Amino acid sequence: MKRRHLLAACGGAVALPARALDFASPPFPTAMRVSTDRIVDITVGIRPFRAQGPRIEAEKRFGKTLIHHYGHGGSGWSLSWGSAQRALALLQAGGANAGERIAVIGCGAIGLTTARTLQQAGYKVRLYAKDRPPLVHSSAATGLWTPDSRVVTNEHASEAWIAGWEAMARASFKVHQGYLGLPSGPVEWHDGYLVADEDFNAPLAGHVGEPDYPDLADRIADLRPQGKALASGEHPFRTSHVRRFTQLVFNIPAYQRLLLEDFARDRGELVQHEFRSPREFAQLREKRIVNCTGDGARALLGETSMTPVRGQTAHLVPQTEVNYALIYRGQNVVALPRRDGLLIAAMGEHDFGNDDLRPDRGHSEDAVRRLARLF
Ligand SMILES: Cc1cc2nc3c(=O)[nH]c(=O)nc-3n(C[C@H](O)[C@H](O)[C@H](O)COP(=O)(O)OP(=O)(O)OC[C@H]3O[C@@H](n4cnc5c(N)ncnc54)[C@H](O)[C@@H]3O)c2cc1C
Repeated sequence: MKRRHLLAACGGAVALPARALDFASPPFPTAMRVSTDRIVDITVGIRPFRAQGPRIEAEKRFGKTLIHHYGHGGSGWSLSWGSAQRALALLQAGGANAGERIAVIGCGAIGLTTARTLQQAGYKVRLYAKDRPPLVHSSAATGLWTPDSRVVTNEHASEAWIAGWEAMARASFKVHQGYLGLPSGPVEWHDGYLVADEDFNAPLAGHVGEPDYPDLADRIADLRPQGKALASGEHPFRTSHVRRFTQLVFNIPAYQRLLLEDFARDRGELVQHEFRSPREFAQLREKRIVNCTGDGARALLGETSMTPVRGQTAHLVPQTEVNYALIYRGQNVVALPRRDGLLIAAMGEHDFGNDDLRPDRGHSEDAVRRLARLF
């Protein structure tokens, strides 16, 4: 999560004195119950980061048309639908016939939304995947609308690239809106608070070993409601600097389940299969294949332009009365009230280039304690 972006989206800086707790007053949000004994699960996932941005391109190989569609970094859920529309356009440009069966490899955010996009365009889809939710990296995502999170480096963000990214983000945003108001709540809007101990203009230390990322927030500022600085009497947090913002949230388990159900209802087939080499593509019955293997593309294709970026999240007991997110600037902690739990995510110092999937409980407990200081 790029705090710099959210800060930009929320406006300028405020400098206010600390104040006493008062969660009881009616306009104030309910306090989050954050303590280490409420951690019921810790998940770890890998962001498939690609310095050049997601790879969405066609290739002829083994007598097949391969559409590569992976490398969405920390933005996969956010960009998914718009990205899938680009993959569809490549298939159509390559002459895919209406009603033809297309193979989609991968059952994460990108594979599922690609499969649905193809079905809606009139194609039959057979989905092949080594793992399915909740065992995919996409299931470990926090669930915020962050189309500009670790999606490209400064070096590769040309004006043409940014224009393509913006179109993709806008198209995706539009489709996500169609999932609002459903009983299982796959997509919801929530208020959030950006809080800081220091002035919002104070520079932040970057993460170890990470490249510079472009600041893309201004390009989609109209898709993020403007925030408001809160005076000391207007918020209950034990910190001086607070801004309120409003944010699109994905309840990942509900979203995945709905996509899988819709896929099956439209006669989609799901085949559990691990491809050990791209040569296996030649054996598929389908002539056209969309490769949505995410971080798996590193091993499958020997893709060297991808860097794994580890992310760990603690799941606390769900607290349904909490309806706001918290971003603790400078402390590197994000708290998100999802229907399946109160999620507390914190980047570690050495997560860039790290694909270690073992949970580090001490790291999550430390993040929970830092957040607890606010209440
Ligand atoms: C901690 C964390 C927090 C995040 N938070 C957000 C967020 O708030 N908002 C947001 O937009 N994004 C977020 N992301 C990023 C987002 O989750 C990723 O961009 C997204 O998961 C990428 O999806 P994917 O489908 O490409 O990959 P995956 O979810 O990894 O899916 C890949 C699929 O391909 C299959 N596969 C791989 N290799 C093979 C093979 N050889 N043979 C057969 N099948 C194979 C896998 O089994 C799987 O089904 C977060 C990511 C993490 C880790």
